[in-house]
Amino acid sequence: MENSTLFDLAQELEQQNGRIYETVCQWIYDHAELGEQEFQSSAYLKERLTEIGFTVTAPYGNLPTAFRAEYGHGHPKVAFLAEYDALPGYGPEKDQNRHACGHNWIAANTFGACDILRRIYDAGHFTGTIVYMGCPAEEMLGGKVNMVDAGCFDDIDAAMQIHIAGGNETKLAGQSLAIDSVEFTYHGVSSHSAGAPERGVNALDACYLMFDGVNALRQHVTPDARIHGIITNGGLAPNVVPALASSKWFVRAADRTYLNELTQKVINCARGGAMMTGAEMEWRFFENSYDNMMLNRTLIDAMAECMRIAGIGNINTTEQAPNGSSDVGNVSWVTPTLAVNMGIGNTDGADCHEEAFLCNVIGERGFAGLHKAILSQVFLALCIYTDPEMQRKLAEDKQQILAARAAR
Ligand SMILES: [Zn+2]
Ligand SMILES: [Zn+2]
Repeated sequence: MENSTLFDLAQELEQQNGRIYETVCQWIYDHAELGEQEFQSSAYLKERLTEIGFTVTAPYGNLPTAFRAEYGHGHPKVAFLAEYDALPGYGPEKDQNRHACGHNWIAANTFGACDILRRIYDAGHFTGTIVYMGCPAEEMLGGKVNMVDAGCFDDIDAAMQIHIAGGNETKLAGQSLAIDSVEFTYHGVSSHSAGAPERGVNALDACYLMFDGVNALRQHVTPDARIHGIITNGGLAPNVVPALASSKWFVRAADRTYLNELTQKVINCARGGAMMTGAEMEWRFFENSYDNMMLNRTLIDAMAECMRIAGIGNINTTEQAPNGSSDVGNVSWVTPTLAVNMGIGNTDGADCHEEAFLCNVIGERGFAGLHKAILSQVFLALCIYTDPEMQRKLAEDKQQILAARAAR
């Protein structure tokens, strides 16, 4: 069957079943849970996927709320990167968890894409495996990093995700920065700050001398680098020389190789603080380290066309300067990966993580965007499942990605 005929079939199935996907979107929204605690949300999604015939593996990737749901057999294996964690600090008292990043919308668009694809698969129009990858804790931990490390993506031929965004523009080639999260702790010696200062070793001094060191380093880093720290413990009373002080840092850069170098320089600044004061220093990574996003042109170009057919306007395929970091970056270093930021129309200037954005991740505007996101993913997946040339190109891309990973 021609792709255009399959696309018509997909469109028809989306129209028939679209309400189900809206229900999934609303349900996850109504049960907003923070990262690593998405027990209800992941249970609900696993149940829905089991109902439609998917085989569920859970827990998965050594994470209690991660799971993998599959339909079909063999290659190509196309993975849809679902997320379902919410953010804290919303509502009138700023004490509620809410889906201000629209991960309910991602959980639903990946579900919708998988459901339509399994119906087309059942009609015998392609072979391969449809993979719903349940990826928890994007906001807090970066669950995909654990999943990549556990080999969850090793057998995947292509991975995709469509994230919601405010405004009209849909960006297919957004970069993200590699990031290391480093905590430094200094151990000094307490004494009376006025009575016996000479007996003390000031851990707080070590801490801010490190800040001075990093501020000098800033002049000699590449323009993409971002280094930002806070003091998390700076002593307890002014008349006691602080015996314990600590700081937390995010160190970011456009590529992992350079970031590894830069993080070492920041650690050296911390060592300097220790030497200058005589305090003992220890450090650790306190969150997962993210890789930068490796863009995949094969998927970007094909998706641009699929999105046009799905009725999405204002598509931008040019490389965007990075502004943050995402755990999807790590997936992009093991398999060809597409991460789209889809503008869903006029959101009155509101965007992700804002209270004012909440009304866009459900409701009329959110659902209209949801249906287009579902269809474009189905179209792209059909191109992959049915086109041997595309499969060959993706296999070649995967080899290049793995070679680059091995070389870094
Ligand atoms: Zn977010
Ligand atoms: Zn998000």
